[in-house]
Amino acid sequence: MKFSQALIQWYEQAKRDLPWRHTADPYRILVSEVMLQQTRATTVIPYYERFLASYPTAAALAAAPESELLAMWSGLGYYSRARNLQLAAREAATGFPRDYDGLRALPGVGDYTAAAVASIAFGLPYAVLDGNVVRTMARVTNDAGDVRSPAVRRRLQAAATERLDAAQPGLFNQAMMELGATLCTPRKPQCLLCPVAAMCAGRKAGRQDQLPVKLGKAAAIEEHRTLYLVRRGAKYLFWRRPAESRRLAGFHELPEGSQLPQAERGELLGEVKHAIVNHRYTIQIFAAKLAAAPEGFVWLDPAEALTQPISTIAKKALGLVRR
Ligand code: SF4
Repeated sequence: MKFSQALIQWYEQAKRDLPWRHTADPYRILVSEVMLQQTRATTVIPYYERFLASYPTAAALAAAPESELLAMWSGLGYYSRARNLQLAAREAATGFPRDYDGLRALPGVGDYTAAAVASIAFGLPYAVLDGNVVRTMARVTNDAGDVRSPAVRRRLQAAATERLDAAQPGLFNQAMMELGATLCTPRKPQCLLCPVAAMCAGRKAGRQDQLPVKLGKAAAIEEHRTLYLVRRGAKYLFWRRPAESRRLAGFHELPEGSQLPQAERGELLGEVKHAIVNHRYTIQIFAAKLAAAPEGFVWLDPAEALTQPISTIAKKALGLVRR
């Protein structure tokens, strides 16, 4: 049996019921693919459903106020994805590009997303190469090259393209991603259940646990920070990142201790952890007192704050006092 046939047969029986698998609408597929970058499917589901209930079409997303859009995205992180998605929706509001190059030219759409939308929405023969497919293909082809190297990624892309079922490319791509997400997992791949085990060179060589090879991974940078929860009645003190900020422009943040030297620090309320790219933050949250809000700061009720764009760290910190 061919690789693609074994894979698709398995997928038809084993696939998880995910909401974006019930549509061929390129807009909805684009939303799901953008949300799924860096985020697990189970986390994405409620965001995807809320997002599409508010913005059911590209035209609706194109017209959304930015603050409302960012509040809706809050918790998914990597907010440039939301802004780019809106720019793409504005370009596609009068008609979605129906070919790979047109999709690839939309803001925020890279090779992977263009291939996913082209194959799933339009049946075009482009093989996707996301982290799941990279891992699976490195094992299937027993490729011990560094998967961070462009030459190795090109090899793995060619290996996926060679195996693609050109008659059902969307199904093949979804099946590849599902295999990587459920069986050919980073640790302990479940080869005994795998539909393509007989065609997997890494497994035959007994090297599936050593693949893929990733060299030169930068060590995570550990950082410690202190944030203040300054309370006045039912409200807390926030500041807003300026529109020109490189990250999280327009988002509300809790003040750092260093921003409020005049504040009186109180009890430690707790500690939150947060990771962004290769930074790992440990943040201590203190109650603090302050006579008056300094210029540029605002008082917000926690429930009101959650309807605004608010950083994930601030949201986690508020969780300490909203239980
Ligand atoms: S046999 Fe194992 S290593 Fe090979 S693709 Fe299947 S799960 Fe992955």
